[in-house]
Amino acid sequence: MIETTTLADPIERLADGGWLRPTGGPGLLSFTPKFETVMAGLQAALTAADPTGSAGPTWHPPVVPLANIERAQYTEAFPHLLGSVHALSSQDQDADRTPTDVVLAPAVCYSVYPEVANSVVEGPLYFDAAGYCYRHEATAELGRFRSFRMREFVIVGDASAAWQWRDAWIARCEALFSRLGLTPVVTPASDPFFGPGGRFMKSSQIEQNLKFEFVVALHDDDPGTAIASANCHKEHLGERFAIDHADGGPAHSSCMAFGLERTALALIHAHGDDLADWPTLV
Ligand code: ATP
Ligand code: ZN
Ligand code: MG
Repeated sequence: MIETTTLADPIERLADGGWLRPTGGPGLLSFTPKFETVMAGLQAALTAADPTGSAGPTWHPPVVPLANIERAQYTEAFPHLLGSVHALSSQDQDADRTPTDVVLAPAVCYSVYPEVANSVVEGPLYFDAAGYCYRHEATAELGRFRSFRMREFVIVGDASAAWQWRDAWIARCEALFSRLGLTPVVTPASDPFFGPGGRFMKSSQIEQNLKFEFVVALHDDDPGTAIASANCHKEHLGERFAIDHADGGPAHSSCMAFGLERTALALIHAHGDDLADWPTLV
């Protein structure tokens, strides 16, 4: 007789390990204090890795004004991922739900650019931001959540500063992840988006080396999941938010984004269920 081993569903396995609890909603999980211990260690490791010596991230609300997301042209490019806050228009429970002026933040860095909109920057500006994000994902495998937390380091400055900063963060991340016992593959990536006429298009990010992802396995059967991405936006957001550089022309920006739950899950996969066995760094 052939012996077959059935691998437990990775979410159930993590629930058994005391890390998280399913909520019943696809892509929505609750996290235990044990999991949050890892999240806190990870946040501290990221703060320590940031060369600007920040005291830690500024936490942004999980909702952002729709006007800011429209200004970034996110609504045009990624309408399928955006979640919107609606409210009852009266005390009548059967009343229509009408859209409010806010949407769920699809990424944390969209809370940063409005802060410096309509200004002229001299030297580079650095930001350290964190917050809850929402994406209306089509699938809900482990690691592809609808609600998740992101930490982002951001630079707004001239073209060469933004480019060099992004490349320095890639090197810094490789060192940091290796200290944490992770060996991600760094791979060029792109964000498929809706182009003119509502066609789904591949962006030219790969050809231009604009986006790199750090990809690792989150569980035994995982072919690879991005735990972080390093992104150059060129002058796109500078133009959209009317941020100019003192040397002339729109400012450039880059962001280094960490998916916090995904990174914690990668650490759990690498180091096991007993926190006593983990490297002290986390
Ligand atoms: P993917 O290719 O997996 O869809 P992405 O390119 O959409 O990722 P980014 O937009 O670069 O991801 O977001 C920055 C980081 O946020 C990702 O590297 C990942 O770690 C995390 N992230 C993105 N989407 C999700 C999600 N649905 N659930 C959990 N974490 C996510
Ligand atoms: Zn970003
Ligand atoms: Mg995605």
